[in-house]
Amino acid sequence: MAASPRLTPLVGITHRRHWDARSAVIEELEALLDDRPEETRTYQVDPSIAVEMLEAIRSVDSGRKVRKMDAPEVAELARYLSVPIEEFQGPFTVSDIGCSGCGRRLTILDLAKTAVDHGLHSTAAMAAVLTGKAGRWVTVRGKDGGRYANCSACGRQSDVPFDSYTSDVCPLAYAWA
Ligand SMILES: [Zn+2]
Repeated sequence: MAASPRLTPLVGITHRRHWDARSAVIEELEALLDDRPEETRTYQVDPSIAVEMLEAIRSVDSGRKVRKMDAPEVAELARYLSVPIEEFQGPFTVSDIGCSGCGRRLTILDLAKTAVDHGLHSTAAMAAVLTGKAGRWVTVRGKDGGRYANCSACGRQSDVPFDSYTSDVCPLAYAWA
């Protein structure tokens, strides 16, 4: 039985369309997580679905060894990116990886510095992403396993790739899925 269009308030249609768009994006993410692409890739996310997307990511997030960055590590990253520490409270999490060369516990700083040293990103661009000022971003780990970083203290490449780090300066400023 067809519903009468006159009985459908316009606001209801708007919400319904909005919901469909949100669902489609979450479904797309879930499909990528079910059948991961070859390459690790970063996607921009509509801020309006950031919280919902974070829930979807956390619902499948298991088995990865991550830790919270401590205050001195966050301060070190803020200095490197020239971000005022009061704008940079996090929390930040990162894959728990130690440098086999010098024992440094690697952080987002080592990843950021590696990207800058290779000319992939500027510190300003990384600062904008990690503070949420450049929108919301999700990196989907591919079959390549993630990204390697060079230790900022001794230069040695990490033995294993990073497969996760997050910035929750605002909800889902940046996350891995
Ligand atoms: Zn090292």
